[in-house]
Amino acid sequence: MDGIVRLEVDQVSRDLMCELHTLAHVLNALVYTRFGGALLTGAQLSADSTFRVDFDLPGVENNQLRALDDDLNEVIRQDLPVRTSYMQYDEARNIAGLFRSKSVAPTPSWDDTVRIVEIVGLDRQACGGTHLVSTERARTSRILKVDNKGRQNRRVKVQVGEA
Ligand SMILES: [Zn+2]
Repeated sequence: MDGIVRLEVDQVSRDLMCELHTLAHVLNALVYTRFGGALLTGAQLSADSTFRVDFDLPGVENNQLRALDDDLNEVIRQDLPVRTSYMQYDEARNIAGLFRSKSVAPTPSWDDTVRIVEIVGLDRQACGGTHLVSTERARTSRILKVDNKGRQNRRVKVQVGEA
């Protein structure tokens, strides 16, 4: 049986997810470069303009992570462009730092490439998600708290814009 499927994009919600997801990249980049290549173990974006990211960071004090506030906002202020491109999957796999998640590798496209998202001057990683065109499109943000989740994991929660 044939039928018509009607799809609708909730633009407000999509814009918010772009903003939160792009800032998650920025935080991920800061953690990765400051703390010796620490990998992501989880992430969640929320409708209340917060997001949280978990990192495998056994040897780091929580206030070192809380102190990334200023750097996060500095990257927003610098208005760095966000660009996407495609790379051969095997090539990408052999470049340190492009696959940033500890447990989940990105899926190759039908043509064996993988999408690379670059925040120019800051970071480059494989990602299929949706992003802002530049960092200043995001609102000023604040790290609300850092929790220990098990021995290895640190969970960083960020408020984007005013609470
Ligand atoms: Zn992304």
